[in-house]
Amino acid sequence: MRTAYKCRAYPTPEQAGVLNRTFGCVRAVWNRTLAWRNARYRSERTQTGFAQANAYLTAMKATDELAWLNEVSSVPLQQAIRHQQAAFTNFFAGRARHPRYKSRTGRQSAEYTRSGFRYRDGRLFLAKTDAPLAFVWSWPGVDPVSIDPTTVTVSRDPCGRWYVSFAVDVAAPDRLPATGAMVGVDLGVKDFAVTSDGEKIPNPRHLAKRERNLARYQRRQARKAKGSNNRKKAKAKVARAHRKVRASRTDFLHKTSTRLARDHEVIAIEDLAVTGMVRNRKLAKAISDCGWGTFRRMLAYKTARHGRHLIVVDRWLPSSKTCSACGHLLAGISLGTRTWQCPSCGTRHDRDINAAKNILAAGLAVSACGGDVRHSGSPRVQSPAKQEPRPVKAGIPGP
Ligand SMILES: [Zn+2]
Repeated sequence: MRTAYKCRAYPTPEQAGVLNRTFGCVRAVWNRTLAWRNARYRSERTQTGFAQANAYLTAMKATDELAWLNEVSSVPLQQAIRHQQAAFTNFFAGRARHPRYKSRTGRQSAEYTRSGFRYRDGRLFLAKTDAPLAFVWSWPGVDPVSIDPTTVTVSRDPCGRWYVSFAVDVAAPDRLPATGAMVGVDLGVKDFAVTSDGEKIPNPRHLAKRERNLARYQRRQARKAKGSNNRKKAKAKVARAHRKVRASRTDFLHKTSTRLARDHEVIAIEDLAVTGMVRNRKLAKAISDCGWGTFRRMLAYKTARHGRHLIVVDRWLPSSKTCSACGHLLAGISLGTRTWQCPSCGTRHDRDINAAKNILAAGLAVSACGGDVRHSGSPRVQSPAKQEPRPVKAGIPGP
């Protein structure tokens, strides 16, 4: 199992130069390979495999036009091909959008595998640089000298902050004491999450405030003339506001998922098929802001890490319109209905708590069929490991 420790990095001007050139090469490799793949698909209707894309990279490096690709470490370029392959695999499996071109103004990154870096005594040496990369370790519970990273990712956000992320293999999950507690979680737009225990976890208020700020800066940027200095300044403000929104949302998602995974042995959630729902424009903004996909990934790796169980129930479960007390199924329930009374048994329900109870019941029923919640014989149950095929991108502090 893998986890990652991400911290701020402070490259020297020389290192920043090398890294910026590397980012440029990674971007060029990604974009040119993507264009080639797309053209190939359009003209020949054939998908491109990893070996072919890799051969295309070798061919690009051999041309005079792209000879500059040889000036940076070849490892991040190889990794870009690997990531693109994974992105296409996810796309064809219906899990992700079609891979897009990388922009010069977005987040830049380069991933180094073991052949591209040396890590000794807590010091990181990247290929083609001569001094260790300075970084500030921000994981008080972990000794940076003791880690043995398998890959290292250096990135620069649009505001010019540098980060380094160390991916490490963690041998045994850090098992938490048994609590015997089981919970169903209903994710929503009004409240972020409602549990079968009746707890409502609202979306954090400061997040809404930061989002309003972001929207204001975006409007300001739109009013400035293109190419002007004022536009550039406005753009930097937008990027900073974006980062704040992202940071506080990630923080909220981490705290919520850590708490749920710590306090419960079994967690059942609905498979929301977030990518499908986000295509619905009306709900799109609310949903992508909520970060449900990220939340589920966090729950998956935290439950796996702590020996807990995450059950994902069928997304077509009529969780909102089934009475959790007697099983009566309503013909329909409008989005605005917050409470209702069961016509069959008379129980009064809070819409979301009732849904969470149904999600828990469905999760337990499915796990009973499979005999063990970790077992993934039924297509409706997925083991945490299966939901988390890729390494996580950010570590979490211990509980
Ligand atoms: Zn009922």
